[in-house]
Amino acid sequence: MQKLNPEILIRADIIQRLEEIVGGEQFISTDIEVRSNYSRDMTEQVAPRLTDVVVLPDNVSQVQAIVKLANQEKIPIIPYAAGANIGGLTLPTERGGITMDFKRMREVVKIDRENKYIVVEPGFTFGDLKRLFDTELTEFRYSFPFSPPYTSVGCNALLHGLGSLSVLYGSADNFINGLEVVLPNGEIAQVGNHAINRGEYWYGRAPLPDLCGLFIGMQGTTGIATKISLQLIDRPKILEHFAILPKDPIDFFTHWVHDLDKLHVCDEIGCGFFPPKVAGGLLPEDMIELMAKLMYYLSQKKHTKLMKKIWPLLTKLPGKPFWWVKKLSPLLARELPPDNMPFLIVGATIGADNKKLFKAKYKTLKKFMKKQDALMIPPDDFGELKPAMMSILDLPAQLPAFYDLSGGGLTWVGSYVPASRVGEGIARCKKIVMDLDLTPVGVLRPMKADHYFVLRFIVPFNSIDQEEIERVREALKGVCGVILDIGGVPYKMAPWAAKMTWEKGDISFYKLLKRVKDMMDPNHIMNPGRLFVLSEEEVKKKETEENN
Ligand SMILES: Cc1cc2nc3c(=O)[nH]c(=O)nc-3n(C[C@H](O)[C@H](O)[C@H](O)COP(=O)(O)OP(=O)(O)OC[C@H]3O[C@@H](n4cnc5c(N)ncnc54)[C@H](O)[C@@H]3O)c2cc1C
Repeated sequence: MQKLNPEILIRADIIQRLEEIVGGEQFISTDIEVRSNYSRDMTEQVAPRLTDVVVLPDNVSQVQAIVKLANQEKIPIIPYAAGANIGGLTLPTERGGITMDFKRMREVVKIDRENKYIVVEPGFTFGDLKRLFDTELTEFRYSFPFSPPYTSVGCNALLHGLGSLSVLYGSADNFINGLEVVLPNGEIAQVGNHAINRGEYWYGRAPLPDLCGLFIGMQGTTGIATKISLQLIDRPKILEHFAILPKDPIDFFTHWVHDLDKLHVCDEIGCGFFPPKVAGGLLPEDMIELMAKLMYYLSQKKHTKLMKKIWPLLTKLPGKPFWWVKKLSPLLARELPPDNMPFLIVGATIGADNKKLFKAKYKTLKKFMKKQDALMIPPDDFGELKPAMMSILDLPAQLPAFYDLSGGGLTWVGSYVPASRVGEGIARCKKIVMDLDLTPVGVLRPMKADHYFVLRFIVPFNSIDQEEIERVREALKGVCGVILDIGGVPYKMAPWAAKMTWEKGDISFYKLLKRVKDMMDPNHIMNPGRLFVLSEEEVKKKETEENN
């Protein structure tokens, strides 16, 4: 593993001052192990050096004082929640800096049930939110991502995250009602309607000019959010998940997922495209084999007919279908499919406030699936597999399968793409990943009633195998190229992906963005190395090319 430069670039008197600000040596560290932990993440990206110091402020005044000091001394600040963004966005650059971890700022500042929002600090996690919904706020729900419980709800929203309710509401920034931010000069700014009513109601951004945009998608490069107001969504009395197994993934993404969305019967639609071996850590070994066989039959047309005929009979027998498929499987297939072959499982959730409405939605969905020749499996049909299957949907989830696969490395290029091109995108990305002998894992979602689509190719990898890491880099570049080619844009973009994006795009956008950054953060202390990755020469070259 590459050794990072451990030299500390910050003067001892500044570190002393930081310690005074955060209120004691237990909230600051220059230990090499601690700095090292904050200078790595699970991706293939490597920082050129260690961060200089890690601080844990407790409140907005401390954040302000740190930012003022850093701005005066021109020291970079790397805002940090859990470092789990998968874009290398909290890794230090050559300039080192102060990593500001928000674990002590984890409070719920305000709950407004009537106006359906909460105001939280940046360290407030999805685990915290789940606990709140399980206890105090049982009438609400939120769009939960597949990210681990220790990740930040606010940061996810600021990064345009995607989650369980994306099919209804789009990316998570749509839930932001307003922000309190510390600007790069240390001043506080209130942004949103609460700025006008002086903090009484944090209920929205309209009709004011939307200055939250100065901080959304900016990866901590324009300021630090210290309070984030997030919309809560009513939780219907009935919420039931179904697994849907379409025969042909490409046909699903190209055609009928769009018709499924038009039915407006699903509160959640999420698509996992992965080989059964990725289910390791979630399901017992023999179950994985069974799933592999089942999916294999389904992908072979002649077997699908057989399965669909047998399935209703199996559901009536004691033990439920999976138990019987397991028993019958030796008769149905002589061999397992290749262990790298991805299959598609779609999770669809119906929500309704009463049984009558639920039944109507369920009937509509069932009829539709029959027409599509797809298998729709209610949770009870999973039999002994039910708890394992449901745990995947009981977000936030740990998803150990991703990490356990091959040495702990996990990376991806996620993107939002035009809904009309997602089928082509998944076919091309799968080929790139498989040609490089890597495991293809796709997570896809229709967004905001099918106005756009998530296309995310996850690549688990062995983080100590340099040769594999090189293949991973090549795969990611290939996938990013496809995304840009089909009209998509990568999200939470890593610096290398930002470069590819700006090089593909109209340079006027980059120039305007850079002007905003220069105006807000003239000393470029906020999370350097992110987004603003083109040199002046590169900008000029691109301008000349575009003018010719
Ligand atoms: C296994 C796994 C699955 C995941 N699945 C999903 C998924 O399904 N959907 C999804 O959307 N995401 C997913 N993620 C990504 C990630 O967990 C979320 O986007 C997350 O909430 C942000 O990561 P974090 O909380 O660790 O923040 P960090 O990585 O610490 O920070 C993210 C960014 O925000 C900046 N930042 C930190 N604090 C502040 C602040 N106070 N103000 C301004 N900027 C700040 C940081 O500098 C950085 O640029 C997944 C991650 C993992 C590991």
